[in-house]
Order: sequence, then C-alpha cells, then structure tokens
Amino acid sequence: MHPITIIGTGLAGYTVARELRKLDPNCPLRLITADEGHFYSKPMLSNAFSQHKTPEMLITTPVEQMAEQLQAEILTHTLVTQLEPQWHRLKINEKSLTYSQLVLACGAKPIVTPCTGTVTEKILFVNSLSEYRYLRTALQKAKHVTIIGAGLIGCEFANDLQEGGFSVTIISNATYPLNRLVPTSVGQLLQQVLQERGVTWLLGKTVKHIAPIASARYQLTLVDNQTVATDIVISAIGLRPQVKLATAAGLTVKEGIVVNRYLQTNMPDVYALGDCAQIEGLVLLYVMPLMNAARALAKTLVGQTTAVTYPAMPIVVKTPACPIVISPPPKTVDGQWHIETQGQDIRGLFYITNTQQLAGFVLTGKMITEKMTWLKQLPPLLK
Ligand code: FAD
Repeated sequence: MHPITIIGTGLAGYTVARELRKLDPNCPLRLITADEGHFYSKPMLSNAFSQHKTPEMLITTPVEQMAEQLQAEILTHTLVTQLEPQWHRLKINEKSLTYSQLVLACGAKPIVTPCTGTVTEKILFVNSLSEYRYLRTALQKAKHVTIIGAGLIGCEFANDLQEGGFSVTIISNATYPLNRLVPTSVGQLLQQVLQERGVTWLLGKTVKHIAPIASARYQLTLVDNQTVATDIVISAIGLRPQVKLATAAGLTVKEGIVVNRYLQTNMPDVYALGDCAQIEGLVLLYVMPLMNAARALAKTLVGQTTAVTYPAMPIVVKTPACPIVISPPPKTVDGQWHIETQGQDIRGLFYITNTQQLAGFVLTGKMITEKMTWLKQLPPLLK
C-alpha cells in the first residue's frame, strides 16, 4: 500500500499527521520537507530574540523524534519538484514516489519588497527557523534595524528587537500600523507606545532603493528621497501562498490552492491546508484555521469525510508593550467600528450596518480580559 504523503512539516503538515495517527496508528505515512523538519511553533519567531531564545531552543521536538512519534518516514532537505496527480505520483528531481493520498501543506512565501539596488538580496525575511538563525547571526554585529512593513509581523519584530536592545525604524506605506486589521485609534496607540520606547516610524512612505555604504551598512532611499542608514533590513510586507507546484500540476489556484470544505483540490486524492490553501475563498495565514482544517482533513483521509468548520478565531498580537487581541471582521462584511477608549485600554466593536450583529472586535490593555465575552457573540466564520 502506498503511503499517505504530506508535503510540508510546518504546523499544518505536522498537525494533520498527528491527527491522522490518533485515528489510524498503522497506515503508511510519509512527510517530505525542504527544510530541517524539526517541530517548532513558528509564531515564536517574532518574540524570541528578547527572550534570548536560540533557534535550537525553539525546537520542541527534533525531526528524529517526530518520525518515531508519528511512525512516519520523514524526508528532510528534500524539495518536491513536480506533482503528477493523474498517476498519484510526485517527483523529487528524477526520482518518482507514489502516494495513496497527497496533502499539500507547503506554506506561504514572503512578498519581496519591490525596490532597486545592487544589495536587494541582503534584505532578510523571517518565515522559518533557518531564517531566524540567519537573522540572529546578522544581529550580532548590528545596532540599527530597519523593518519594512507595519503589519502583525513587522510590529511584533519591532517590539521584540527594540526590547532586545536595537534601534528600530519601521517603514510602511500604510498611514498607521496594523491598518488592515484594526481601526485607526488602535494602530495609533501601538505606534505611540512603541515610539515612546524608541521605535522610529516612517509611515505613508515607500522604499525606492537600497545601496551599500561603508562598514557593511545599507542606505535606504525612500520615494520622497528621505534616506535611512541601517545595519539590517527585514522585509515584512506580507506572505503569499506557495502555489508553484500546484499551478504547474494543473490544480486550480487563485490566491491560494483552491479547496472545498473537505480540503479537496480539483484533483482526486489531493488535498491542501495551511498557509498555501484557499478554503471556501478564504486565505487565512494563521494557526487556528490550520488546526481546524487539520482535524477535519485527518478524518477525511481515513474515510470519514468531514467538512471543516471555522469558529470566530481571535489573533493575539505579540507586542507586549501594547497588548492587543483582534478578531478581524470578514472582508466581505459592511459595518462600522464603535470605539470606547480609557487611556491605553480600547474596546473596538465592529457591528454590521443597521444591525446589532457583532462581526469583529479589537481589545487593548485591560480590555483584553473581555475577550471571551465578545468572542461568544461572534458568528462562526464557516458554519
Ligand atoms: P509553513 O510553516 O511555512 O510550512 C511549509 C512547509 O512546506 C515547510 O516545511 C517547507 O519546507 C515545506 N515545503 C514547501 N514547498 C515544498 C516543496 N516543494 N518540497 C518540499 N517541502 C516544501 N499565526 C498566528 O495564528 N499567531 C501568531 O502569533 C503568528 N505569528 C507569526 C509570526 C511570524 C514571524 C510568522 C512568519 C508567522 C506567524 N503566524 C502566526 C502565522 C503562522 O505561523 C502560519 O500560519 C503557520 O505557521 C503556517 O504553517 P504551514 O504549515 O501552513 O506553513
């Protein structure tokens, strides 16, 4: 019998494997990953530095132990180069492997900051343990860090690296931080709190060019010709689902790999979940959605076809300087924020226009204790 095969050993790949093993301890199982295959919690990457956590300390289960626990073959440092779904096969260069069922858990890749210059390849991304390892090495000689992007990951790194003793500048074309998720007042509060701690914000600005200057430093030139000299540049302007393999194999791909409520692609016995997948139109690059998807998919893989459901899923912003919890309203919902502010404690409730129906919330500071109260009032994202 050919193994159920999972491409990817991130949280999505490993969670499906664990859920699968709870239901079927014996079926042949193979995981393939381009990286080291150790189990770690990726969200830790953006608040690990100030806690003096080395990449090794972030590994909760080494790959050998994962293979034993899961009773699975795990191929590490192995890039799947082609899918042949019509033959139930995948290829690693010239070598072919046959699967019974295939799960794509290939994650997302960082969007490259569009700027010119001979050193654009020096811009760092932190979307894996090895990239975090690289960042830590680069930080050894650095004093000043520039972060491009003021979304969740950019703000979390800003807080962490400032706390870790670096001068931090954030550049973003947005006019306030977390602008895709929170109302202006919350973004501005985060901006103010981090600014008071020494973070410099260059908002409403875009990087045009990056050039090397003396002593292994860089100069960023913005569109308005303002310049920033820095030791390290981290790009955090967003992630895009990894769809290359799927597209080449003729799977339906829009923003991510398109799957239905059963996590099925348009090809028989091929499924997708996690950062690479677009489930019922939703691309949600967070942990909670992939956990829900993994539980449903494991059942489907053992023959108990199960649709994924999503409850409302709050996101904790890991900026300890300014604690924030968000349950962002769905993009398709028309409504307004109702904001109540008591100093640094903000309660923002998003109601659907002309109704009493709550569609999202944001809480900061002491208001965070109200999380469960508001969560209970939110409708599920996918029933
Ligand atoms: P990944 O972890 O990216 O795994 C992809 C896997 O696929 C890897 O093993 C890779 O090697 C493999 N792969 C890809 N292509 C191939 C190929 N061709 N051949 C073989 N292997 C391949 N979410 C939250 O909910 N809360 C948070 O606080 C939070 N913080 C975050 C902080 C940071 C810094 C980052 C980067 C993300 C954060 N997220 C957070 C998002 C969350 O971590 C991701 O949604 C989640 O980890 C994605 O898991 P995944 O398994 O889908 O993808």
